[in-house]
Amino acid sequence: MTGFSPNLIGGTGADGTSGERFSVINPADGTAVAEFELAGAADVDAAVAAARAAFGGWSGATPGARSAALTRLAGVLSERAADFVAAEVAQTGKPVRLAAEFDVPGTIDNTAFFAGAARNLEGKAAGEYSGDHTSMVRREAIGVVGSISPWNYPLQMAAWKILPAIAAGNTIVLKPAELTPLTSVMFAQACLDAGIPPGVVNVVTGRGATAGAALVAHPDVDMVSFTGSTAVGRQVGATAAGAVKRVHLELGGKAPFLVFDDADVEAAAQGAVAGSLINSGQDCTAATRAYVQRPLYDRFVARVAELFEGVRAGDPLDPATDIGPLISIAQRDRVAGFVDRARAAGAKIVVGGRVPADLAHGAYYAPTLVVDAAQDSEIVQQEVFGPVLVVLPFDTDDEGMALADDTPYGLAASVWTRDVYRSLRGTSELRAGCVWVNDHIPIISEMPHGGYRRSGFGKDMSAYSFDEYTQIKHVMFDRTAVAAKPWHRTVFK
Ligand code: NAD
Repeated sequence: MTGFSPNLIGGTGADGTSGERFSVINPADGTAVAEFELAGAADVDAAVAAARAAFGGWSGATPGARSAALTRLAGVLSERAADFVAAEVAQTGKPVRLAAEFDVPGTIDNTAFFAGAARNLEGKAAGEYSGDHTSMVRREAIGVVGSISPWNYPLQMAAWKILPAIAAGNTIVLKPAELTPLTSVMFAQACLDAGIPPGVVNVVTGRGATAGAALVAHPDVDMVSFTGSTAVGRQVGATAAGAVKRVHLELGGKAPFLVFDDADVEAAAQGAVAGSLINSGQDCTAATRAYVQRPLYDRFVARVAELFEGVRAGDPLDPATDIGPLISIAQRDRVAGFVDRARAAGAKIVVGGRVPADLAHGAYYAPTLVVDAAQDSEIVQQEVFGPVLVVLPFDTDDEGMALADDTPYGLAASVWTRDVYRSLRGTSELRAGCVWVNDHIPIISEMPHGGYRRSGFGKDMSAYSFDEYTQIKHVMFDRTAVAAKPWHRTVFK
């Protein structure tokens, strides 16, 4: 992409001013996709000022006007769908089928959903709750939102941050992951082209420790919304807490995949393959730990192994490709490190556990099936963020439930069973923000996405997310018109 501007500030594209040159690399082949200068603190200042300047007009627009703008945005995104697919594939290496059938249509649907949500301001009915006053609630925008997004689903993560914020009347500065800024800038440009005023949506592409940290700490940012790792989320939360800023944290996951002995083993095996390998396993809700009740364990492992062997890794642009590279060589090596240490600690690698020889020019890692790992080992407890599935057996239902819940994370989980009582127990007792029954991964614009426990708090998508980008104000009108109000006697008489 020539002439790529990594920043969009007040409606104008610009290079960064940090002095550091940076290249976005296609991880499938190592080629440079875009080159530019990264943003620094001065660019963040300019973007926050632009967002502040745009706030009065945008928050004062009617919900209907904001809704109409988002409806136009959905149209612009649809017209440019092929460009978004191409850019998303180039900067992430994700297979074109995933970008074309999930990332881009999901983003368009999310846009259409928030066009509707913009017109639904929920609250308690106005009324005479004290008898002497009329009380009402105003649901208002918060102000300037500073958002930070990760590299795994760059377009969807940008959309999940931008859409509820602006639907509710806020303005926003988004800092995308520096590895993958292309579709975030394209999305912000589409907002402008749909008639959303300059300054409502701003993007600055810089490093997390500099531009990201400056955005979180900025005194004129009223709310921080972050999606990324738990380690960085902890720092972001601490900075926001210091300034008493509203904060929204969507963090890491380590989703369990719990298979009871009455499950359809073929459905569970296919679900485990799709659920663990989606986006090369770089998905915060990916199935990472399958617990399989002993009677089904051998069949499940054998079938997943067979399916893993058949997964086609290759050129992301080839529609026949199932799995692309990881985001970078560094991420591939990190994943390989987890697998190598598990092997050294006595785990067995049933399939994979290596860089495919014919794809060593890219950041590829073979789908990897691990068994015989200890529950307390790092490969079971920590987020690997790669195409790696660990399978462990269990005997009693109580044991399976306890193992599934035994990590600090709580983003997502799935339960595989045909028994209504087991599914009710799994969905009510597992501590996760989403629990699927007999599936793993699907998301939908109308329903919330977000974590429990160390996976963070705050919801993306859905009306719940829209509400989080608003604040409610109690307004109270005196109805008596008397000078000496009855309640004054509690103070003086
Ligand atoms: P990361 O935490 O390294 O980076 C996320 C973002 O934070 C990037 O834009 C980065 O530049 C920025 N950042 C880094 N240091 C910062 C700092 N000190 N201050 C402010 N910003 C900073 O995560 P990643 O490697 O880009 O993404 C993968 C992680 O994201 C995984 O842990 C994954 O589970 C998580 N994730 C969570 C969800 C969810 O909805 N819960 C969705 C997608 C990804």
